[in-house]
Amino acid sequence: MVPRSWQKGAPTCDGHDHRILWLKDLYRGDEIRVAPFGGHGLPCRREWLELTGFFRDRHGHRRMVAPALLRVLAQVQRHFGGRQLHLMSGYRAADDPQALNSYHQVARAADVWLDGIENRDLFEYCRTLQRAGENLGCGLYPAGTHVHVDVRSRATIWVDLSGYGDGAIYIPNPEAWLEAHLIGDNYICRSATITFAGRAARPDGAVRGSDPNGSRCLPTRRSGC
Ligand SMILES: [Zn+2]
Repeated sequence: MVPRSWQKGAPTCDGHDHRILWLKDLYRGDEIRVAPFGGHGLPCRREWLELTGFFRDRHGHRRMVAPALLRVLAQVQRHFGGRQLHLMSGYRAADDPQALNSYHQVARAADVWLDGIENRDLFEYCRTLQRAGENLGCGLYPAGTHVHVDVRSRATIWVDLSGYGDGAIYIPNPEAWLEAHLIGDNYICRSATITFAGRAARPDGAVRGSDPNGSRCLPTRRSGC
């Protein structure tokens, strides 16, 4: 599919827009560092193709990455001092194109984290951009390793206590949960320990089932127990 903007003439990267995207793919291990934006914040043809290839799924499927997503990721990167963005998942081809259920399937989402930055801080910055008017999806995975960011028509947030690739365990009221669960706290959910905003820890599955929030999750301090 050739985007319509190309038919009209894609912008050229003339060097006036210095915004950088510097990404590393977690699974392949390769990196990309480009200044992809030309006029009006639209990606230039060559750089857009390179990034689209970088965002390909593990079967090699690709779809042109949404320019708005690229702009948001560049903004996130700039906000956090230009640190490299680690990409866990970009585009994911749908098994059934008639039944889309993820912004990853339309190349409008990225699962990312940054060296030296708590995922909660990354998530909170996603919410800051929402408050500034960006229609983003911001997903926090306290037991996982990433933050989900997508571009959509209406801003939304969620907290999912599942580990990566497992079935979702959504917190029913994410706003209240976020208020009660501060950065730096650990949470013991039955026998599983979730290191909040950490990368390595994940629950052992004990939290699966009904209501992982509330009585099953008891906050402790990071140094506790
Ligand atoms: Zn995601």
